[in-house]
Amino acid sequence: MLNPRATAMIGAWLDAVGEADAVIREEILMRAAADPDTRDAYCTAAVACGAAMRDAPEATDARADDAYVACVHCRHFRPNPRTPEAGFGRCCIEAPASLTTPTLWPYALHRCPDHQPLAQGAQP
Ligand code: SF4
Repeated sequence: MLNPRATAMIGAWLDAVGEADAVIREEILMRAAADPDTRDAYCTAAVACGAAMRDAPEATDARADDAYVACVHCRHFRPNPRTPEAGFGRCCIEAPASLTTPTLWPYALHRCPDHQPLAQGAQP
Protein backbone atom coordinates (compact mmCIF):
# COMPACT_ATOMS: atom_id res chain seq x y z
CA MET A 1 0.00 0.00 0.00
CA LEU A 2 1.43 3.35 -1.02
CA ASN A 3 1.13 6.09 1.59
CA PRO A 4 -0.49 9.41 0.59
CA ARG A 5 2.74 11.36 0.72
CA ALA A 6 4.58 8.98 -1.60
CA THR A 7 1.56 8.99 -3.90
CA ALA A 8 1.67 12.79 -4.02
CA MET A 9 5.42 12.86 -4.65
CA ILE A 10 5.22 10.37 -7.47
CA GLY A 11 2.24 12.19 -8.96
CA ALA A 12 4.20 15.44 -8.83
CA TRP A 13 7.13 13.75 -10.57
CA LEU A 14 4.90 12.38 -13.31
CA ASP A 15 3.37 15.82 -13.78
CA ALA A 16 6.83 17.37 -13.95
CA VAL A 17 8.03 14.97 -16.63
CA GLY A 18 4.81 15.37 -18.62
CA GLU A 19 3.58 11.81 -18.20
CA ALA A 20 -0.16 12.19 -18.81
CA ASP A 21 -1.07 8.66 -19.84
CA ALA A 22 -3.39 7.35 -17.13
CA VAL A 23 -2.45 3.72 -17.75
CA ILE A 24 1.28 4.43 -17.42
CA ARG A 25 0.69 6.55 -14.31
CA GLU A 26 -1.31 3.76 -12.70
CA GLU A 27 1.36 1.21 -13.62
CA ILE A 28 4.07 3.35 -12.00
CA LEU A 29 2.02 3.77 -8.82
CA MET A 30 1.39 0.02 -8.70
CA ARG A 31 5.12 -0.68 -9.05
CA ALA A 32 5.88 1.80 -6.29
CA ALA A 33 3.30 0.18 -4.03
CA ALA A 34 4.74 -3.27 -4.66
CA ASP A 35 8.41 -2.47 -4.01
CA PRO A 36 9.86 0.00 -1.44
CA ASP A 37 13.10 0.44 -3.42
CA THR A 38 11.14 1.37 -6.51
CA ARG A 39 8.97 3.71 -4.45
CA ASP A 40 12.06 5.41 -3.03
CA ALA A 41 13.63 5.69 -6.46
CA TYR A 42 10.52 7.39 -7.86
CA CYS A 43 10.38 9.73 -4.86
CA THR A 44 14.05 10.52 -5.37
CA ALA A 45 13.32 11.33 -9.00
CA ALA A 46 10.60 13.72 -7.81
CA VAL A 47 13.13 15.47 -5.57
CA ALA A 48 15.80 15.49 -8.28
CA CYS A 49 13.57 17.30 -10.77
CA GLY A 50 12.33 19.78 -8.18
CA ALA A 51 8.77 18.42 -8.07
CA ALA A 52 8.98 17.48 -4.36
CA MET A 53 10.87 18.44 -1.23
CA ARG A 54 13.84 16.37 -0.08
CA ASP A 55 12.64 16.24 3.53
CA ALA A 56 9.65 14.12 2.59
CA PRO A 57 9.81 10.81 4.48
CA GLU A 58 10.10 8.65 1.40
CA ALA A 59 13.17 10.49 0.11
CA THR A 60 15.75 9.65 2.72
CA ASP A 61 19.10 11.38 3.02
CA ALA A 62 20.75 8.22 1.77
CA ARG A 63 19.16 8.90 -1.60
CA ALA A 64 21.04 12.20 -1.81
CA ASP A 65 24.36 10.41 -1.47
CA ASP A 66 26.92 11.25 -4.15
CA ALA A 67 26.94 7.58 -5.18
CA TYR A 68 23.57 8.19 -6.79
CA VAL A 69 23.72 9.49 -10.34
CA ALA A 70 21.31 10.46 -13.09
CA CYS A 71 21.73 9.17 -16.64
CA VAL A 72 21.20 12.67 -18.04
CA HIS A 73 24.62 13.57 -16.66
CA CYS A 74 26.37 10.53 -18.18
CA ARG A 75 28.25 10.38 -21.47
CA HIS A 76 26.79 6.92 -22.14
CA PHE A 77 23.20 8.18 -22.09
CA ARG A 78 21.22 8.74 -25.26
CA PRO A 79 17.99 10.68 -24.63
CA ASN A 80 14.64 9.67 -25.98
CA PRO A 81 14.50 11.40 -29.40
CA ARG A 82 10.81 12.34 -29.02
CA THR A 83 10.92 13.61 -25.44
CA PRO A 84 14.59 14.16 -24.56
CA GLU A 85 13.95 15.97 -21.28
CA ALA A 86 11.55 13.47 -19.78
CA GLY A 87 11.29 10.31 -21.85
CA PHE A 88 12.89 6.93 -21.30
CA GLY A 89 16.33 6.99 -22.92
CA ARG A 90 19.00 4.45 -23.79
CA CYS A 91 22.33 3.41 -22.30
CA CYS A 92 24.75 2.93 -25.20
CA ILE A 93 26.98 0.54 -23.21
CA GLU A 94 23.99 -1.38 -21.83
CA ALA A 95 25.37 -1.06 -18.30
CA PRO A 96 23.87 -3.54 -15.82
CA ALA A 97 22.32 -0.64 -13.92
CA SER A 98 20.37 0.30 -17.04
CA LEU A 99 18.22 -2.78 -16.50
CA THR A 100 16.88 -1.57 -13.16
CA THR A 101 14.00 0.78 -12.46
CA PRO A 102 14.01 3.83 -12.69
CA THR A 103 17.31 4.05 -14.58
CA LEU A 104 17.11 5.63 -18.05
CA TRP A 105 14.53 8.20 -17.04
CA PRO A 106 16.86 11.17 -17.54
CA TYR A 107 16.79 12.62 -14.04
CA ALA A 108 16.05 9.52 -11.96
CA LEU A 109 18.79 8.96 -9.37
CA HIS A 110 20.27 5.49 -9.08
CA ARG A 111 23.57 3.75 -8.40
CA CYS A 112 25.68 2.97 -11.47
CA PRO A 113 29.39 2.11 -11.30
CA ASP A 114 29.64 2.63 -15.09
CA HIS A 115 28.50 6.25 -14.93
CA GLN A 116 30.89 8.58 -16.75
CA PRO A 117 30.22 12.27 -16.15
CA LEU A 118 29.70 14.47 -19.17
CA ALA A 119 32.41 16.97 -19.94
CA GLN A 120 31.61 20.48 -18.70
CA GLY A 121 28.90 21.98 -20.91
CA ALA A 122 28.44 18.83 -23.02
CA GLN A 123 25.02 17.46 -23.99
CA PRO A 124 24.21 13.74 -23.80
S1 SF4 B 1 26.28 4.01 -17.71
FE1 SF4 B 1 24.81 4.07 -16.02
S2 SF4 B 1 24.42 6.26 -15.65
FE2 SF4 B 1 25.37 6.05 -17.67
S3 SF4 B 1 23.65 5.95 -19.13
FE3 SF4 B 1 24.24 3.84 -18.61
S4 SF4 B 1 22.90 3.30 -16.89
FE4 SF4 B 1 22.84 5.54 -17.07
